[in-house]
Amino acid sequence: KAYGERAQSIIRTLCAYGAIALDNAEAYNVVKAARRKSAQQEQELRVAAVAFESQEGMLISDGAQIILRVNSAFTAIMGYTADDVRGKPASSFRSVRHPPEFYEALQKSVLDGGAWQGEYWALHKDGHIFPLWLSITAVHAEDGSVTHYVFTLIDITERKLAEDEIRSLAFYDPLTNLPNRRLLMDRLRHALIKSERGADMGALIFVDLDNFKKLNDTRGHDVGDLLLAEVARRLEGCLREGDTVARLGGDEFVVLLESLGLETVEAGERAEIVAQKILSSLNQVYQLEGVPHFSSPSIGVSLFKGQEVTIDEVLKQADLAMYQAKGAGRNTIRFFDPGMQAAISAHAAMEADFRRALQHGEFFLVYQPQVESTGRVIGAEALVRWLHPDKGTIPPGHFIPLAEEIGLIVQLGAWILDAACQQLQDWSRHAHTAHLSLAVNISARQFHDAHFVDLVLAMLDKYRIGAGKLKLELTESLLLKDVDKVVAIMNALKERGVSFSLDDFGTGYSSLSYLKQLPLAQLKIDQSFVRDIFTDANDVAIVRAIVTLSQSLGLSVIAEGVETREQKEFLIASGCHAFQGYLFGRPGPAEALAVAA
Ligand code: C2E
Ligand code: CA
Ligand code: CA
Repeated sequence: KAYGERAQSIIRTLCAYGAIALDNAEAYNVVKAARRKSAQQEQELRVAAVAFESQEGMLISDGAQIILRVNSAFTAIMGYTADDVRGKPASSFRSVRHPPEFYEALQKSVLDGGAWQGEYWALHKDGHIFPLWLSITAVHAEDGSVTHYVFTLIDITERKLAEDEIRSLAFYDPLTNLPNRRLLMDRLRHALIKSERGADMGALIFVDLDNFKKLNDTRGHDVGDLLLAEVARRLEGCLREGDTVARLGGDEFVVLLESLGLETVEAGERAEIVAQKILSSLNQVYQLEGVPHFSSPSIGVSLFKGQEVTIDEVLKQADLAMYQAKGAGRNTIRFFDPGMQAAISAHAAMEADFRRALQHGEFFLVYQPQVESTGRVIGAEALVRWLHPDKGTIPPGHFIPLAEEIGLIVQLGAWILDAACQQLQDWSRHAHTAHLSLAVNISARQFHDAHFVDLVLAMLDKYRIGAGKLKLELTESLLLKDVDKVVAIMNALKERGVSFSLDDFGTGYSSLSYLKQLPLAQLKIDQSFVRDIFTDANDVAIVRAIVTLSQSLGLSVIAEGVETREQKEFLIASGCHAFQGYLFGRPGPAEALAVAA
């Protein structure tokens, strides 16, 4: 009695089952145990109820998969309330995204194995289809029959979006939405395999925009981006279905053409038609932020058939052909041919040779006199030579471009400066050569090297070079970079008595405002103008204009490549009083120059 209604009912039930006769003490224990058990059950129910209202959507069906209840997370995910779905089959949310076989396999796994889980495209109440992570678990009775199914579902729309985003970032160029290098390589791999199977030819077209860097430098990267996006659009417009256009990076685009036929000639012609179309399309005027802009491409084409060559080779060949197009004056198309291959191999061999030569010190300097009108030698230009163990003396035109390309011009340039300054020190020790100045050619890459200023200053100290003795010859290409930086470097050296001459003047595209900013001492009239003074009226005008310009800028002027007396007389009449050229002396050993001085 002390335990109330509930205890009595439990005891009655126990007695009704018949097997027990209770004394008081026994009854007390039984009741106590029963009470404990019921409290525990209540607790478990409470836990289950909380669990049921978790973040995961839950649906409980009976053994026939008829819905009994759903939780509120289910409603949030699927849009249906408990009242909407109670009594309906659990299959009500199937979408057409999966084929019937998918649902069959799923059911089979649930019925046979008692469970299934995986990605599931479900139909939301509002009609849209979206991805779930779904698990289905059967609840068995003691006899093994299924009494219930528990479905848990997690909305993975966001995860999927993130995955797609990652895929798109990984395979597409965000600026143009074109496939990137990685996706192109993948497509090219497939194209080579396909071409092998069908013996059908394909082509790779390498497109590089001419002077793109100049647009970026003058109008900013945003405008550069606009051009790239427009170029991408035009390229897409030139293609047939099934062709791929990708952006490799910067201003480099690649077009992959497939199924060009079985014959090399035919495939070449078909590729050329597309390349021509690209050339003319990219030549149309662009409107960039309302300003008309002209741009042209250089295009290289390489054909491929099956897996005769590797992916890397096909790309390299198209790239090489593109460089040939650039070399041929830009805005044109070149096809790769095996002769080019020979050129690359020779280039590679030369590179190895050059590295060795640097280590072995196979370079030497020659000196070409610079004179004034009276014929007196006022200085010289140092010109480098390579004394090759097998090939003899190699002129700089054959290795300076290579050294620039592979970056070793910095190392070679440092050696040249050292040798030149040592020569200046030598001259300073003798009365008849002490007045000589020496001009040293500096490549753009060398000038922009982070240690350039320190290097020159160290040389001045090492060889105690007097002010006005060392002259550095710069070319206009070097000035195209950041003017402020160029000016800062020049000023730092000018302060220590180094002067600057602008080499090959007239062949670049410096503007007047540019020139005015630079702390130059001299303009050097390019030899091509001097050479043609008597055959080309333009050159007469150009020489006169350069002299006038130098006067108005307060700079001295020197002409190079002077070979005849007539050229000298004409230059003097035009106001140029300093010369360099075969008329006065060829580049030669320092001793020869000392004699002339
Ligand atoms: P550059 O600086 O314009 O040098 C003048 C070139 O014209 C030299 O050729 C010189 O030998 C040649 N030359 C001089 N007088 C005459 C003439 O009257 N008639 C003709 N037809 N040619 C004449 P070189 O020595 O073969 O040098 C070629 C180019 O190589 C140089 O052009 C320069 O750009 C580069 N270079 C030479 N030495 C060096 C160097 O030490 N460092 C760097 N960075 N470049 C160098
Ligand atoms: Ca020079
Ligand atoms: Ca020159």
